[in-house]
Amino acid sequence: MKLIDTHAHLDLLQDPAGAFARAREAGVGQVISIGIDLATSRKAADFTREMRGVFCTVGLHPHEADKVKPDTWAEMKLMALTASAVAVGECGLDFYRDRSPRHLQRDAFQAQIELALELGLPLVVHDRDAHSEVMSMLDKLGAERVGGVVHCFSGDAAMAKDLVSLGFCIGVTGVITYKNAKELRSLVKQVPLTKILIETDCPYLAPMPHRGKDNEPAYVTHVNDALAKALGLPSEEVAQTTADNARRLFGLPYLED
Ligand SMILES: [Zn+2]
Repeated sequence: MKLIDTHAHLDLLQDPAGAFARAREAGVGQVISIGIDLATSRKAADFTREMRGVFCTVGLHPHEADKVKPDTWAEMKLMALTASAVAVGECGLDFYRDRSPRHLQRDAFQAQIELALELGLPLVVHDRDAHSEVMSMLDKLGAERVGGVVHCFSGDAAMAKDLVSLGFCIGVTGVITYKNAKELRSLVKQVPLTKILIETDCPYLAPMPHRGKDNEPAYVTHVNDALAKALGLPSEEVAQTTADNARRLFGLPYLED
């Protein structure tokens, strides 16, 4: 079984190399380390050189949208090219915490959708309480041409359907293991399995039975098992399909070992 953790903040873990080694032992063959600003994108890029099986994205989180400088996007583009980033993000809109003014969040999201289109890379999208605006921006700016994933998906079945028709996947985290996530467990049955990715979003959102502790890529196994249970499918089949989905979207190679 070779799972893929499609959304990890390795730079925020206490011991990234140790966590990656534990992931490999748990059957997680590949991990995508996510950038949320220039510094963390650079760190994610460094990890790809240090650990075979780690891939990186470059992006600016909506919380950081007020830190954009005139050369931010040029630097990000250069970094994406030199580091062979597999996606642009995480980018998007967060109207739940509103840590940056909304107009700046929109500007940063638009700039990154345009960057993804220019580079031909898929998007890793963060959407918190901004469902309709996220959808309309992806739609209007032509994000369909590159596709991507709305990570830690929190929309409803109608939005999931719209995303799928835009060529996007939905990302499922450890939230699916939580007792109160009944809606998510029923929603995943309405989405084609070929459009679902699994992720940890570590160090956040540790799945049961680790809830409340630091999360790490090895625990994506619990996400996979909970998804399989919700779908009434064997874990192996869900692991295989979601890994294939991730390889297809992000252009990841097959690893032999
Ligand atoms: Zn994240």
